[in-house]
Amino acid sequence: MKKTTAVSALKAGFENSFAALPQKFYDAAMPESVHGAVLEKYNQKLGRDMGFNFTKETPGLADCLAGNLVFSDAEPIAMAYAGHQFGNFVPLLGDGRAILLGEKSTPDGKRLNVQLKGSGRTRFSRGGDGKSPLGPVIREYLVSEAMHGLGVPTTRALAIVSTKEKILRPDGIHPGGVMTRVAPGLVRVGSFEYFAARGDEAAIRMLADYVITRHYPEIFEKKDCYHQFFSAVALRQAQLIAKWMQLGFIHGVMNTDNTSISGETIDYGPCAFMDYYDPNMVFSSIDTMGRYRYTNQSAIMKWNLHCLGICLQSLLGKTNEEAMDVIDAVLAEFEQEFLNAQKIGMLKKIGIERPWDQDVSLLGELLALMETQKADFTLTFRYLADHVRQNSNMTMQFQRLFNAPDAVAAWLKSWQRRLAEENSPEVIREGMNRVNPLFIPRNHRIQKAIEDAEIKKDFTQVHLLAALFEKPFTQQPEFTDYAQAPAKAERVTRTFCGT
Ligand code: AMP
Ligand code: MG
Repeated sequence: MKKTTAVSALKAGFENSFAALPQKFYDAAMPESVHGAVLEKYNQKLGRDMGFNFTKETPGLADCLAGNLVFSDAEPIAMAYAGHQFGNFVPLLGDGRAILLGEKSTPDGKRLNVQLKGSGRTRFSRGGDGKSPLGPVIREYLVSEAMHGLGVPTTRALAIVSTKEKILRPDGIHPGGVMTRVAPGLVRVGSFEYFAARGDEAAIRMLADYVITRHYPEIFEKKDCYHQFFSAVALRQAQLIAKWMQLGFIHGVMNTDNTSISGETIDYGPCAFMDYYDPNMVFSSIDTMGRYRYTNQSAIMKWNLHCLGICLQSLLGKTNEEAMDVIDAVLAEFEQEFLNAQKIGMLKKIGIERPWDQDVSLLGELLALMETQKADFTLTFRYLADHVRQNSNMTMQFQRLFNAPDAVAAWLKSWQRRLAEENSPEVIREGMNRVNPLFIPRNHRIQKAIEDAEIKKDFTQVHLLAALFEKPFTQQPEFTDYAQAPAKAERVTRTFCGT
């Protein structure tokens, strides 16, 4: 495929601090030109927040986001990284189908990386084509924007381009897609592992200094700044995983190369939100052992952080022993922070803001009922808010979530008695509705949006879902159906990487 050489008249206002690092951190990488590119979706609001004054119609924008042209101030590169994939170390991964165009400083003082995904081969592509089918582009756009709406730290999605390229995958031929991803940080645990595998201590220090300056500036001047840095990364990850858990989100590929140093959810592959509650839920077709199942996510993150700690060893102590003590202490902090955030967050979901000791078992009883009765995770918590008044009867919509509602009625009574000690019903209800969404990116809806777009070139569902996910906590009467769990026959229980 032809590499793009043409430069657009469009300027994005990019700086390129990563490209200013030594050459071994990346490789220069021009996108490949594509035919039949259509800018299907441009996230105008995100663009505006970033300080772009583009609209979907801005001449040259579609070609820049398709990779047919490059912004005049872009310095396109593919970043080098390694990673543990399903526990196995791969010393050379890197951006095989992503190209970083540059960094944009936003009017509100953030600094965001702008990256094309699916725009062709780079030095890191190995056997891959560097492209993406349209389906995974749509999935990432919708799910990452939904996560933002749900208040979860995440990379964002600026645009979807469809192409007339034929993308060959094991399940057939798909139309092509290019996504524009926006991320505060793209350095991963795997970025450190890349240099650790090469014994390059100087590069590890340089990379640590780079991310500290950029993402943790408050600790730069501190005496034990690398220890503090490691600890800050661990705390952000603990809070992140707790948020995923509270929404029933399963990332699906928590490899170390998909674990961000700046603490956002990154790399939406075969990810999914569970419909009915099952603590052992796995969606990803490649996760055959359930390594990344719902309840294993915090343990896996701890393992990934251990990998990071080992890379930072020489910065964490004068001797190996000293460094290992720091690593152990940080991993213990991670665990404590996760358990705490998870407890507070889950109790908020049942309306409890001032926990008592026995509240954890009250919550456990509800989860056990949900599990045995396969109740919908999202709707159980959302509809629970209709029952905060003592002795209020079970609503039909809540009752329908359970196949043996009588057992739940008994639980409701003890919960209502507990809530009477908490706050006024109005305040509790409002609080619950702020943390329990009505709309999540349900698999079957995402699947339908992808099929309509791939097969019929119809993006109606993509636009509709994107709008809906901007306000996932707000009732939107015209879209009630979109809040509902899928009927058994509609359930999508397997998700695929598709890359
Ligand atoms: P991911 O599944 O996004 O975590 O990707 C794992 C690794 O595979 C990364 O190094 C990607 O850049 C690479 N990769 C995934 N899909 C492709 C593709 N279609 N072409 C080239 N490299 C790819
Ligand atoms: Mg990845």
